Amino acid sequence: MAVDTPATIAIIGAGPIGLEAALYSRFLGYDVLVFEQGLVAESVQRWGHVEMFTPFSMNCSPLGVAAIQAQGSTELPSEDQLLTGCQWRTRYLIPLSQTDLLADSIHQRTNVVKVGRQSVLKHEMLGAAERATSRFRILVDGVNGEAVHQADIVIDCSGVLGVANWLGSGGGPAVGERALIDHIDHLPPDVLGKDKSRFEGMKTLLVGAGYSAATTAVELSRLVMANSETQFVWAVRAVETHTPITRHTNDRLASRDQLAQTANALASQADGPCRMRGETSIESIRRDDQGAFWIRFYGQDAEESFDNLVANVGFCGDNTITDQLQVHRCYASDGPMNLAATLSQQTTADCLDQKSTGADSLKNPEPNLYLLGSKSYARNPSFLFAVGLEQIRDLFTLIGDRETLDLYATVGTARS
Ligand SMILES: Cc1cc2nc3c(=O)[nH]c(=O)nc-3n(C[C@H](O)[C@H](O)[C@H](O)COP(=O)(O)OP(=O)(O)OC[C@H]3O[C@@H](n4cnc5c(N)ncnc54)[C@H](O)[C@@H]3O)c2cc1C
Repeated sequence: MAVDTPATIAIIGAGPIGLEAALYSRFLGYDVLVFEQGLVAESVQRWGHVEMFTPFSMNCSPLGVAAIQAQGSTELPSEDQLLTGCQWRTRYLIPLSQTDLLADSIHQRTNVVKVGRQSVLKHEMLGAAERATSRFRILVDGVNGEAVHQADIVIDCSGVLGVANWLGSGGGPAVGERALIDHIDHLPPDVLGKDKSRFEGMKTLLVGAGYSAATTAVELSRLVMANSETQFVWAVRAVETHTPITRHTNDRLASRDQLAQTANALASQADGPCRMRGETSIESIRRDDQGAFWIRFYGQDAEESFDNLVANVGFCGDNTITDQLQVHRCYASDGPMNLAATLSQQTTADCLDQKSTGADSLKNPEPNLYLLGSKSYARNPSFLFAVGLEQIRDLFTLIGDRETLDLYATVGTARS
């Protein structure tokens, strides 16, 4: 349903997509409240040492570039540059958050606890547009304690990194895992940088078979080659362990393909830097007084000890923020149903080939509530920033009921 200005849009998360959605809203004249639990682009900072696969041209928007350039002081990266997460944050995302259009809208260190309706409960007025007559009520917990805000539209851009997948057999927690959650690395640790002392000369268990696991495996291997006391075991669910990382045919992201090839070459070496362990699932984890992890793998009686446990097994996001609202979720991905259904019809496995899913795929039963960015993909790991920009463009054709609205094209054309 169309919502014209003046109206307030609340955005959960000042990550890359939250910032871009806020900018688009401000360009159109909406009042904007952005709530960020940490600092701007906090999640990107968490994997900041990792080099991105996509060049800077795919990690910025025409609006973002125009807004930063209008401030006059920041030199932007070149279009083909491959930045690390930290560089993306400091050279684009933070300058973007400091532009005149956004600076006053962003509330850092403000966690969104719950979003509901002021006077309508979850089970009332099923999927009805009339729910929107009651404004959204947003409970936040920030530096000054708890507070309530109201908004006409809510865009949840809180990402997925808040909740990691479990290590246990069948996707549930291994025995003991819940109590140890804060001691397990869920993102690739900075093995050759700030975390080196934790890994050098130590024995690490790495679990996972995606690009994050590949990143960790390559860095741990370098450490093993430099220091023969260092050991690591790489555990995957597949029976075959020679090619744990799936390569994309004719991959257009050269650094992604290089990473996959390097990781697979390590895995296939008989006397290489890592010991591979196929068909693995974990039954129990405990930690002794010295901090060592004791892992019991499924089907084994004895435990094996490790100094570090790196679980690069993906994330699923926190759905409790909007659980008082009518969000229809996919039973497989946990993402919003319309979008998940549309994505399941796309035949390509390569995130570069994804087509815009269209404005209708962003609708929920709850009027004026939208999930964008990596949050909208939930357990589906193929989200790219460039996809999020398409979502933003599509969303504002809905919000303003202007089918042909495309500020990215307008601003891009004006700049060229
Ligand atoms: C190792 C790694 C490498 C990647 N490389 C690439 C790449 O090369 N190219 C690419 O396009 N993508 C890449 N990605 C995906 C990348 O994460 C996304 O493109 C981008 O960060 C998604 O932005 P987002 O805003 O949706 O989510 P996030 O970046 O996760 O931002 C979400 C924000 O919401 C905040 N938040 C969460 N919960 C709350 C709450 N309750 N209240 C308030 N704030 C909250 C978080 O603190 C965070 O700042 C990579 C991801 C990883 C992990």
